[in-house]
Amino acid sequence: MDNKEIFHNLQAQTTPFPIGLEISRAEGLFIYDKAGKAYYDLVSGLAVTNIGHRHPKVIEAIKKQLDIHLHVMPYGEFIQTPQLELAEKLNEILPANLTTSYFVNSGAEAVEGALKLAKRYTGRQEIIACNKSYHGSTHGALSVSGNPVKQSAFKPLLPDVHFIEFNELAELDKITTNTACVIIETVQGDAGVRIPELCYLQKLREKCTETGTLLILDEIQTGFGRTGSFFAFEQYGITPDILVIAKALGGGMPIGAFVSSKEIMDCLTHNPMLGHITTFGGHPVNCAAAIANINVIQEENLVDDVHEKGALMNQLLSHSLVKEIRQIGLMLAIDLENEEITQQVVEGCMEKGIIAFWFLSCPASFRLAPPLTITTKEIETVCGVICEVFDSLG
Ligand code: PLP
Repeated sequence: MDNKEIFHNLQAQTTPFPIGLEISRAEGLFIYDKAGKAYYDLVSGLAVTNIGHRHPKVIEAIKKQLDIHLHVMPYGEFIQTPQLELAEKLNEILPANLTTSYFVNSGAEAVEGALKLAKRYTGRQEIIACNKSYHGSTHGALSVSGNPVKQSAFKPLLPDVHFIEFNELAELDKITTNTACVIIETVQGDAGVRIPELCYLQKLREKCTETGTLLILDEIQTGFGRTGSFFAFEQYGITPDILVIAKALGGGMPIGAFVSSKEIMDCLTHNPMLGHITTFGGHPVNCAAAIANINVIQEENLVDDVHEKGALMNQLLSHSLVKEIRQIGLMLAIDLENEEITQQVVEGCMEKGIIAFWFLSCPASFRLAPPLTITTKEIETVCGVICEVFDSLG
């Protein structure tokens, strides 16, 4: 069997039409295929490589940890330096109430942990989430993802989950003293970059506080500088009770976390004891990579010009084929006339060596979320190429 046949037959597929690009290596802004063709990765491996592929400092940290130890014990028993240092680093960059991190392996797992924590802490069962949200594909995370088509084949899901319209103030009245938590993306990603009003998130925060409901902010896609601040909630003047992070946390390595106050987190230690455990959560190599990743973002001041770079992309992509651009920092949704044109644009970009991608819940739109390290010159180049693709279809 050749590699394509193995990929299609021996590796489980997620769609009947995978892109199937065969990768030889990746570096910085670029991914290279087996023929040596370079592709600008304008989606950062889907909001992961915010500091670019294989940043030298991340590689160095990984290599160093490889020589010290790999897995030694399931999460939470032994004291491991990379976990300590990552917990300290997160404590340093997060607001005062978010002191305590529980490390897991992925975004969906962080969401699972956060939902369980909210139920356990409040003693309530009701969960409120938003239409068109995406929080992951495991049963709990899927239960709170507002996409009925993706949910339909996998029912029954979690009971007592209620969906509200994102960014609609009147809907917040559905949050009551029966609600354990509201889980919400600070900026909705897979709904096609939906940016809420300042007053909406502030009112949501107030309503949660008033009713003793825990506010879970999902910053899995928006975290680590993507929207122009380290976390998007900073731009809204609010803090969550539980924060979920993953994707760009690990600088290209798989790690997630849910973070809360010590008081809230402590309830996971009893009634039942070991009520939430993970073998590989907080793997030392991935923690070492995550520390290096956060250091790079800080030392290279990568967040500083994200707003400017995003605004430049927004401006340079204005074209008669484009219906609307929703953009916050380097997170962009470009709306086109319909799904078919969107498909043609994504394919046309690929042919010209640019990786763009679709959204789960916004079919007539494509996404761009390049590494924060992209330069102004590179932005001009790639936007020029994308506009050539628009021209060829217009
Ligand atoms: N939450 C958000 C906002 C996401 O964008 C994603 C993944 O796209 C997830 C959760 C799930 O993360 P993972 O794929 O690591 O399970």
